[in-house]
Amino acid sequence: MDLGLKGKIALVAAASKGLGRAVAEELAAEGVSLVICARGEAELRATAAAIEAASGVPVLAVPADLAAPGAPAAVVAAALARFGRVDVLVTNAGGPPAGGFDALSPEMWDAATRLLLTSVVELTRAVLPGMKAQGWGRILNITSISVKQPVDNLMLSNSLRAAVTGMARTLATEVAPFGITVNNILPGYTRTARVETLAQAIATRDGIAPAEAQARWENEIPMRRLGEPREFGALAAFLCSARASYITATSIPVDGGWIKGLL
Ligand code: NAD
Repeated sequence: MDLGLKGKIALVAAASKGLGRAVAEELAAEGVSLVICARGEAELRATAAAIEAASGVPVLAVPADLAAPGAPAAVVAAALARFGRVDVLVTNAGGPPAGGFDALSPEMWDAATRLLLTSVVELTRAVLPGMKAQGWGRILNITSISVKQPVDNLMLSNSLRAAVTGMARTLATEVAPFGITVNNILPGYTRTARVETLAQAIATRDGIAPAEAQARWENEIPMRRLGEPREFGALAAFLCSARASYITATSIPVDGGWIKGLL
């Protein structure tokens, strides 16, 4: 299937590794020029070079801490300076700390809000004028299965991704007349550094080995295995594509069947 993405410009946030990188790789394979950002400059530049070498598309690496005031807008400004427009925005960021209500200080709530909610708002704010002017755009937010079924001990993720989902649903209605779609893609347990950190947190809390924490998840997943980042990237590329032109305001899981709900 030709996704109709060749020659488009995409900004994929938090893409030096993990899910963001997998999305960037899939888009690059479709001929999409990229802007990627992350905090760690060396890893980000290495990722940009690897994607360029594999796909032949230009990849601009913009080191940025998305939780810092003004940083999301600066990343978009760098994208516009290099490519002149952003057709596709994929919002993403590192996961917040695990923990229940009593474990979280006001500072932790503030930091997680800046990282998971404010960064999405500010990236979106910066790309929308251009998308509206050209009458075409794709906004895809990487959220979590936690918006359909909260995950125990992930208070920050469960709360703030729900806020992103509410914002995205409302925005989808507002920008649909401009040819802009807004969707969310919900990773289940997928093999990245993030799940290793979560497995370690559970292992420490419960006095078990990290491998046992992973085995518990696998037992909850009908497919009995973690997802691979590439399996996530495939749906992301489709939702960003010309072929997905009538799909908006959705939240679609890639979770091996983990969510128990009907819809
Ligand atoms: P990861 O740790 O593998 O990668 C995170 C990426 O975000 C890296 O490129 C990192 O450099 C970047 N990043 C982190 N903090 C940043 C910041 N302040 N500013 C800019 N960049 C930053 O994580 P992942 O597994 O790819 O997860 C991506 C998102 O998906 C996270 O929000 C995570 O909570 C969520 N998620 C992941 C899973 C999973 O199983 N992997 C499941 C549900 C939700």
